[in-house]
Amino acid sequence: MKPPPFAYLRPSSLDETCSLLAEHGDDARVLAGGQSLIPALNFRLAAPEVLIDLQQIPDMSYLEPMAASGLKIGAMCTQRSAEQSALVALRTPLLHMALPYVAHVPIRTRGTIGGSLAHNDPAAELPAVMLALDATYHVRSIRGVRQLSAHEFSLGLFTTALEPDEILTGVQVPTSPVTFSTGFGFQEFARRHGDYALAGAAAVVSTADGKSCSHCRLAWFGLSDGAVLADRLPSAIVGQKADFAHWEEVLEDHLQHMDINADMHADSAYRTHLARVLGLRALRQAWEQARSVADSSEIP
Ligand code: FAD
Repeated sequence: MKPPPFAYLRPSSLDETCSLLAEHGDDARVLAGGQSLIPALNFRLAAPEVLIDLQQIPDMSYLEPMAASGLKIGAMCTQRSAEQSALVALRTPLLHMALPYVAHVPIRTRGTIGGSLAHNDPAAELPAVMLALDATYHVRSIRGVRQLSAHEFSLGLFTTALEPDEILTGVQVPTSPVTFSTGFGFQEFARRHGDYALAGAAAVVSTADGKSCSHCRLAWFGLSDGAVLADRLPSAIVGQKADFAHWEEVLEDHLQHMDINADMHADSAYRTHLARVLGLRALRQAWEQARSVADSSEIP
């Protein structure tokens, strides 16, 4: 059998991985679940000299509750184990809602949370979920550790702020404010279930009184070179009574200022339409959930 055109290394610790990355830099790629990288190698879209397999490293697949109600997720946690985790369902319901839309079960069984975030496909669900949740990314190299916001981590089309010698070790999803009731919404449109979405939206909405919006974050995916935060939304709707017609106008205005991709699957007018409809649906879904929690709780 012809040997692979690269050196295949299986480090057994994070320190060893970081040393290998420091030694080989741009010539090396780390291999997580292989669900994006192996096809890229097969098609010669990637041709590293060194492939560093992360499967042997212990303690990178954790799902670790934080003191209040957040969650730390190891980069090597598979998408399937996160999807089936009661902890994820309880502490990061938005991730729980989104995971069944990522590809198919066999792919999610090998594909990792960190692999999806590091790959940063513009149509991928998880970078948008992390942006909506304002997650923190943990990155490591022999130079030390650093933390980046989801916004800082994603630099665009299949590009992140990771340096060639750095590895993503995990993400931390923060706690929702205890004084608010918080709801989550996730919507996408794909030609077939499991395909990458033509467009989609992930939303987080909080209310303190069941009438007005106290916090809101919405991220779109599939529209441009990466997940996009609807950053005009909070200033336009927070502090005001929930008004879906107004929310839709704000989304429409935001989309008009965006450069939205066109390709063989959808032109930009159709994607803009999907983004408005799905964005509003995700917001309404999140709002209804937040409001029903507020109605049934003792939040003043
Ligand atoms: P790999 O393929 O092993 O790696 C991907 C990239 O990330 C590589 O460049 C690798 O070097 C880098 N990387 C991986 N882990 C790290 C790390 N810890 N630190 C630094 N860099 C790292 N995804 C979706 O989001 N939505 C879909 O609908 C979807 N549909 C798919 C359909 C098919 C048929 C297939 C084959 C894949 C699909 N995917 C989809 C992609 C899938 O979710 C992958 O699992 C994911 O993109 C990559 O995860 P992985 O663990 O397999 O990473």
